Amino acid sequence: MNKLTVNVRPPYDILLDRGLLRQAGLLAAGLETGRRVMIVSDETVAALYLEKTRAAFAEAGFDAASFVFPAGEAHKRLSTVEALLDAADAAGLTRTDLFAALGGGLVGDLTGLAAALYLRGVGFIQLPTTLLAMADAAVGGKTAVNLASGKNLCGVFHQPRLVLCDLDTLDTLPPAVFAEGMAEVIKYGAICSAPLLDKIRNSVSLEDILADCLRIKGEIVRGDTRDRGRRQLLNLGHTFGHALEKLSDYTLYHGEGVSVGLLIAAWAAEKHGLCASGVYDELRALLCAQRLPVTTPFRAVQVASCAMNDKKRRGDTLTLVLPKARGESRLYPLPAACLGDFIACCDGEVTGC
Ligand code: NAD
Repeated sequence: MNKLTVNVRPPYDILLDRGLLRQAGLLAAGLETGRRVMIVSDETVAALYLEKTRAAFAEAGFDAASFVFPAGEAHKRLSTVEALLDAADAAGLTRTDLFAALGGGLVGDLTGLAAALYLRGVGFIQLPTTLLAMADAAVGGKTAVNLASGKNLCGVFHQPRLVLCDLDTLDTLPPAVFAEGMAEVIKYGAICSAPLLDKIRNSVSLEDILADCLRIKGEIVRGDTRDRGRRQLLNLGHTFGHALEKLSDYTLYHGEGVSVGLLIAAWAAEKHGLCASGVYDELRALLCAQRLPVTTPFRAVQVASCAMNDKKRRGDTLTLVLPKARGESRLYPLPAACLGDFIACCDGEVTGC
């Protein structure tokens, strides 16, 4: 078993192993919380893992209630949070009790936000069941739901009390959803770890690769909990990725958007002489090997105009994340009005094709 601690206040553990859902109740019992838990899941994940998780909490002496909502970004909305808060209230959860997010990044983001709001804040634990959630979303305390105008525009920072990554749950992931997670994994390599890029290329064990991602995320989050500095590096590929998701009316999934977004950033950086050559080619090959999309029919001007509304924009400035060399990236502030010109060079290579 891999065990890492995220040294924020208060610190919390991430456990990475097979069979952890069966131990979820016992491990949560060590947190010295109350004995009521609200397990939150989407319909797909609930059909696979809710009973097992509920039994694990019941065996450890928890009174376990559950709230299940339909899968998909269309349900990552405040209306779902409100229904969840009503369910928690009806189940009698008090300030010392827990929420447990059983599912992918979507369930984790929504549950975290509800936990932050319920009674002005209760604890929650993450039980991620997708590769993307294990590698990235379940750690770091970013919670959010979508607004009509864009993704994750309504949220708060609220760190989990514990993260249990049960590798068994990845066995039921559809291949396309697994590949989406690999886009985030490749992102970590591109941000700050050439050795991780080697491991991905050499297909070393997933547990080893995930442990690297979690170590990187834990370190970055510890140094910048509120996303004001280095943590913004984790947005590599996301400004363009979110724009593409939105342009496609969310028919393009998050990891797919990140895949193309990484390549827009890498191609533009290389073309402007801001990045060593070869970085784009390597990232493209790694993403192709996962059967992730590497081009988009949307043109650069459309991507830029949609990305201007990115929540990372501060005033007239957008802070892009750009690869700098193999396993190295940098923050690159740019006047938002210049974004279209900056990525116009992507047309014909990544965008508009
Ligand atoms: P998701 O939670 O929507 O899950 C994708 C699909 O896989 C869903 O249909 C789900 O029901 C299904 N699924 C989940 N686990 C399964 C399993 N074990 N077996 C079979 N099917 C399973 O998507 P995701 O890719 O995990 O996460 C994307 C979300 O995470 C987005 O909403 C994104 O904004 C958010 N996110 C948040 C952060 C953060 O730091 N908070 C970081 C990255 C992404």
